Amino acid sequence: MSEHTLTVAGVTVDARHWIGGERVASTDTFVDVSPIDGSVLGEIARGTATEASAAVAAARAAFPGWAATPRAERARILHAVADAVEKRIEDLSIVETHDNGALLRSHRRGVMPRVAHNFRFFADWLLRLGHDDFTTYTSGSAAGRGHTNHVSWDPAGPCVLITPWNAPLMLATWKIAPALAAGNTVILKPAEWSPLTASLFADIAAEAGLPAGVLNVVQGYGGEAGGALVSHPDVRRISFTGSVPTAKTIAAAAAANLVPASFELGGKSPLLVFADADLDLAVDLAVEQYDNAGQVCLAATRILVEETIAQEFTRRFTEKASALRQGDPRDEATDIGPNIHPRQLEKIDGFVQRALAAGARAVIGGHRGEGQCYAPTLLTDVAQDSEIVQEEVFGPVLTLQTFADEDEAVRLANDTRFGLAATVATGDRERAERVTDRLVAGTVWVNCFFVRDLQAPFGGSRHSGVGREGGTWSFDFYCDLKNTVTSPKGWRDHG
Ligand code: NAD
Repeated sequence: MSEHTLTVAGVTVDARHWIGGERVASTDTFVDVSPIDGSVLGEIARGTATEASAAVAAARAAFPGWAATPRAERARILHAVADAVEKRIEDLSIVETHDNGALLRSHRRGVMPRVAHNFRFFADWLLRLGHDDFTTYTSGSAAGRGHTNHVSWDPAGPCVLITPWNAPLMLATWKIAPALAAGNTVILKPAEWSPLTASLFADIAAEAGLPAGVLNVVQGYGGEAGGALVSHPDVRRISFTGSVPTAKTIAAAAAANLVPASFELGGKSPLLVFADADLDLAVDLAVEQYDNAGQVCLAATRILVEETIAQEFTRRFTEKASALRQGDPRDEATDIGPNIHPRQLEKIDGFVQRALAAGARAVIGGHRGEGQCYAPTLLTDVAQDSEIVQEEVFGPVLTLQTFADEDEAVRLANDTRFGLAATVATGDRERAERVTDRLVAGTVWVNCFFVRDLQAPFGGSRHSGVGREGGTWSFDFYCDLKNTVTSPKGWRDHG
């Protein structure tokens, strides 16, 4: 065992980098702490420009071989990775829960099975991709007659993938799976607050048969390891999930090398509850926004309720939310675990205290909970232009505002700089159609929340992101499309 090998509740993780199919140490390390009880999980290799360059070189070296691997073989290996993930669901769940504090039962039953599904989905999609050949019959000076057009989806090269801590392996594999399926090689830089499942996954994928250098993992801090990766001139794609300020830094680095980059960013999504909605369903949707201790980019943190039902909605919401059990994320009975880091807790409380000082009223919560938890909070009497309504908190903090009619509901819903998602609760199909038409959001849910089919485009508008992932949209991003035009003339076998 190396000094970087650590054990989390019986599961061994090698926390060195994974470069070219080998474990690589760094001179420095950083300490990884569990949000559950503040215990030290271990020392993680702290990557610098040296390891970033080595990883890009490894990804470059492995690229021609992987790109030339027939699609069916690539798909077979990705299914083998999915099989291997399924066999290690328990280990991955235990490690992720200790590392980021999200519920163990969610990891076991929801998140990790989805990780496996990410590989199966993109492996299968790959085999259906690119039946785009067509024949030109248009007339005109530059157009052809009987010329065939063959569109090929060529892999782009080494891709840098940068991910956040709130759903570490799930978000990483949304990127890894399509990037690899497309024939690219990747370098993953996981978040420094939750680095472990990336390391464990590298071993699982290698054992499943993923060739050396096809997947590389560089651990370390954002500005250091991440910064070196996104500015490396041999990188062909950058896919980032995280905050708006970091996205702006990465966008500048990508621009310097003219590298296409995709950004999945934050949100301040609304939940619109109309008087004609199934009220119990609407209350359930609202309470669901506390999942993962509110650390969900898609969370509908602004509840907008039609004024005629606001009192009854608030009563039922309070009753339901007050019954949520907060505590150890390893316990089956726990509904809300701790927030990721003392700094995040500080940030959440800062938002809440400033809102209260500005005149907001806490219907529930408004203060810290036990340990590293924040009490589920609902704030009302908040102004549309206030910080608490406009800025992403990324904690279990919701605001409640009322509206008089559909126009006002839509105006409030759209009035932030974000546009990631929106949820509408209504019993009226025509209203649902009218309102969803007018909402600015990458995803709109009607009478549901968080349903995510990988066939659908996923991403945000405005400051919530640039680009879309999912199905063909992922391949669009990870491929260089090439059109080959062939003339019907000039063939020896046609005389
Ligand atoms: P963050 O921007 O601080 O960090 C994200 C990642 O970027 C980390 O791996 C970090 O190390 C790295 N990084 C930081 N600076 C960098 C730099 N200069 N160059 C390269 N990499 C750098 O975000 P976070 O706090 O980890 O995550 C929370 C944010 O992510 C929230 O805003 C949330 O809404 C967003 N998010 C969005 C989605 C989505 O799909 N839209 C999903 C999850 C989270």
